[in-house]
Amino acid sequence: MDEAAAAARVAELVPELLRHNYLYHVLGTPEIDDRSYDLLYRELELIEERFPSLRRPDSPTRKVGGEPVDFLPPFEHRVPMLSLANAFSADDLRDFEERRDDSGRLRGGIRKLLLDAGAIGEDDVITYVVEPKLDGLAIELVYEHGLFVAAGTRGDGRVGEDVTHTVRTLRNVPPRLFTDAPPPRLTVRGEVLFELEGFLEMNRRREEAGEKPYENPRNTAAGTIRQLDPGPASRRPLLFIAHSAGEGLVLPTHAALLDRLRALGFQTNEYELCAGIEEVIAAIARLGERRHDLPYEIDGAVVKVNDTALQEVLGFVTRSPRWAIAYKYPPDRVSTPLESVVFSVGRTGVVTPVAQLVPVRVGGVTVRNATLHNEHQMSREMRLFPSAQGEPLRGADGEEIKTGLRHGDVVVLQRAGDVIPQILGVLDRPERQGARPWVYPEDCPVCGHRLDREENPKEPEKVTIRCPNRLGCRAQLQASLKHFAGRRAMDIEGLGDKLIAQLVERGLVTRPSDLYHLDVATLAPLERMGEKSAANLVAAIDRSRRRPLERCLFALGIPQVGEATARDLAAAFGSLDAILAADEAALLAVDGIGPDVARRILEFTSDPRNLEEIARLRAAGVVFPDVEKPAQDDAAKVLDGKTFVLTGTLPSMTRDEAAARIVAAGGKVVKSVSRRTDYVVAGDKAGSKLAKAQELGVTILDEDGLLALLQGTRDES
Ligand SMILES: [Zn+2]
Repeated sequence: MDEAAAAARVAELVPELLRHNYLYHVLGTPEIDDRSYDLLYRELELIEERFPSLRRPDSPTRKVGGEPVDFLPPFEHRVPMLSLANAFSADDLRDFEERRDDSGRLRGGIRKLLLDAGAIGEDDVITYVVEPKLDGLAIELVYEHGLFVAAGTRGDGRVGEDVTHTVRTLRNVPPRLFTDAPPPRLTVRGEVLFELEGFLEMNRRREEAGEKPYENPRNTAAGTIRQLDPGPASRRPLLFIAHSAGEGLVLPTHAALLDRLRALGFQTNEYELCAGIEEVIAAIARLGERRHDLPYEIDGAVVKVNDTALQEVLGFVTRSPRWAIAYKYPPDRVSTPLESVVFSVGRTGVVTPVAQLVPVRVGGVTVRNATLHNEHQMSREMRLFPSAQGEPLRGADGEEIKTGLRHGDVVVLQRAGDVIPQILGVLDRPERQGARPWVYPEDCPVCGHRLDREENPKEPEKVTIRCPNRLGCRAQLQASLKHFAGRRAMDIEGLGDKLIAQLVERGLVTRPSDLYHLDVATLAPLERMGEKSAANLVAAIDRSRRRPLERCLFALGIPQVGEATARDLAAAFGSLDAILAADEAALLAVDGIGPDVARRILEFTSDPRNLEEIARLRAAGVVFPDVEKPAQDDAAKVLDGKTFVLTGTLPSMTRDEAAARIVAAGGKVVKSVSRRTDYVVAGDKAGSKLAKAQELGVTILDEDGLLALLQGTRDES
């Protein structure tokens, strides 16, 4: 076959394969069997191997694999991706359409808005579309002149993450639109989620291979799409289901839009047209009965006004459209036997009961244990249920009956959305009579130290039971080292739970500052380490010496000082010494710091043991850098319209941080170098991108150059 003949064959094969994909994945009406499809696919693959220049951008072979990316650049939505208001009951839905006062006068709801605007008449019925609400990851696809070019996550609605490399590989994302007249730019919104049967099958295979099964389809889908390596996304049974368009497609009704998306090649939801809100309520009830029969997980129904002209009249409130509402089904509730209660010791010594359960599936997740807040909840706040679905039992006074957790109890468990499963109470069973209650231990389950009780009789629900052996309790030390090394704190990559446990057990680390004295010779002999990992860890520990002040403050683990408060403190005081010297009045003057937090900070900064540890950290080379003055407003957009490519390892910031600062200053970060790239920021081990930049004559910056540019001081001549 010569190249001309091959080109002619490719021109037949690609559309043919795309059509079969569409028939199979979108319409569910395949015309050929899998084997015939595979033969056509293999034929195309062979031609492309022989004539690589014939590999078209829309070739179905591009769905397999692909190169990993270095990081996920920001992805801007030209039309913001909005969220929907929620409804939890039929009455919420009725209120969405219309609210009337006691005399029957129309007071609110979309009917009133439409009537007031003269868009409908008194007797008009509003038509709605009801669709399943998918429990997936919200994604936008971008098509230019009919070709798939990019995909991004929702993020905050305006800026998400670029996930083109993974979304491209999903089998039902069409590489090319099915139309001869594509718009110059079309953005399609929808959800990426697991096909449930495939998810369960994937888990069966993982378990056979001795791997831990995934628990939550949605989280796993999100994790797969946001990976740098597109491999897993191309192998896992993920679907993209389209539900709306951002730009490039306006039709008279939402139903027509869904039909059009389907005709263009996208898998869409089934939908039902409903005249008036009572039909909507009935449709939602029908869908609810079938929800566990659908091929993917849904957590509710989406209701949209069908008429696009009416949608425009209704418009938006803040970040939600007024013409749509999401109905959420009540959370799943199940019961399961309690096997045991274990008491875990946290970073600050607080002892928390964790209920160990016979594994049970609830709301799409397998639950094996559930954390209780404290002793009060465990011993006094368990409601009694007649059955998993029933309402809690009430006493003669009408109050809910509450009891404590007992040995042999069957607990009632609920999971709503992505909220951690919670124990609501226990089943009311005769076996409970005389069963032993679960009680807190008197001594720390880890170090054996007598536990302290902090209790205010006026607020019994706030009881705290704590191991006071802060420096000698292994559980607390391990938890504080884990916190210290965390990504949002000192960001010491490679210092995981198992390694921390080894370091603590062998007495190599008794406080965070000890980490800075570890060397390769000490680390290499540890389990699963070796020279290379040890060297990497030492390098990561070294990098952490220059973490920004706010991260260091967070890492110190001052009670009540989370990331936000650490940032506020760093910004307000500018240096660690100023914070250590601050008195109560100075602390209270900081926005967001109240008396309780101020007291905790003062307790921390006046404890000589903490000051000693800070001194050790400094002696070990941790910088606690002073905060630079914030950029002026007019300097904030110094990078307006400039395009950057980041490559290699920068000395003091991660590429994510660099990208965030560039975007904040009005610049744009892209993945590959072209003539339109303004700057390439190259760090250590910069590879082909640096070479490409040199070849194209693009300006190359190091980190200092970037910082100078961000401060607007670089001479651009
Ligand atoms: Zn202890």
